[in-house]
Amino acid sequence: MLRGFLTGFLFLCLTGTFYAADTESVRIRVSKKSVSMGTSFTLEVYTVSPIIESKISFSGKEFIVFQTPKKGQFRYHYIAYMGASRYTKSGKYPLKVDVHLADGTWFRESVKMTVRHPKKKVGKVRLSQDKKALSKDTKSLQKESSVIGKGFNTLTPVSYFKQGFKLPAKGRVSSKFGKMRLYNSGVSSRHAGTDIANKVGTPVWAPNHGRVILSESFKVHGQTVMVDHGFGVVTIYNHLNERFVREGQVLATGDLIGRMGVTGLVSGPHLHWGMSVQNVRVDPMKWVK
Ligand SMILES: [Zn+2]
Repeated sequence: MLRGFLTGFLFLCLTGTFYAADTESVRIRVSKKSVSMGTSFTLEVYTVSPIIESKISFSGKEFIVFQTPKKGQFRYHYIAYMGASRYTKSGKYPLKVDVHLADGTWFRESVKMTVRHPKKKVGKVRLSQDKKALSKDTKSLQKESSVIGKGFNTLTPVSYFKQGFKLPAKGRVSSKFGKMRLYNSGVSSRHAGTDIANKVGTPVWAPNHGRVILSESFKVHGQTVMVDHGFGVVTIYNHLNERFVREGQVLATGDLIGRMGVTGLVSGPHLHWGMSVQNVRVDPMKWVK
C-alpha cells in the first residue's frame, strides 16, 4: 500500500501534468488533467493480467482502450486517445475508469478533469449565391454527415501511425479549429477542423501512415477522403479538386491523396483538414510536430 502510494506520488512529481493511480495490479496514467478545445489526451492502463471488460467514460461519452505491444513491469499496456467535444461547456468532468482483469481484479478510479473551452470570436463567411443555396441543402448535409460520422467512428485495434503528424498541404491557416462561423445564409457552426488555404491544385499528402476508408464526391463537403490511422484516430480531407486514392488503399506518410480545390460549401480554395479520436473532433494541428 505504502509502496503503491509512494510510486504514485513520485510519478506525479516526476511528470507534473500526469495523473497516476496505482494498485498492485493496475496503474493508470492520464497525459493531461486540463484540456482546452480541440486538445486530445491519452489514458494509459498498465495491468498484470489482460483486461476482459472495461468501461471508460468522459464528458458524456464512452471510450475504449486498445492493447499495445508495449510491455513493462505490468506486462500489459492499453491506450485510449480521448478528447472533449467542441460543444462541451467549460467545467469539471470526471474521467471514470472501470476495468475487470482476467485474474479477477476489479479496478475503479475517477480522475477529475478540467475542460476549458474559451469563447471563440464569430467569423462571418460570405458565400456566393449558388453556395448559399447549397448551405440550405440540409438533406444532402445530413446524408453526408451520417456517412462521414460512420467513418469517424472507425475503431481499428492496431495503430498505423507514428508519433508526429506532418502538414498535409502547404498554405496559410485560414480558419482555426473551434471558430464560430456564421454564414450569410444564417447557418452557424463551430469549426470542426483546420483550414489550409492555397491555390487550386496544391498537392495534399497523407500526414501519417493509414488506410483510406472513404473516397467520395459530396455536394456539401466536396470531394472527400478519409484516412483511418488506427486506435480510433481518423483524419478527413474536404473540398478537394481531385482524389488519387481509393477505399482500402494503404498509405504511407507523404503519399499524394489529392489536390486542393473549391468543391462543396466553400468561399474560396482551401483544404479542410479534420481529425477525430473515437469520434470526438480534435484539432489536427496539435498533432503536428
Ligand atoms: Zn474547414
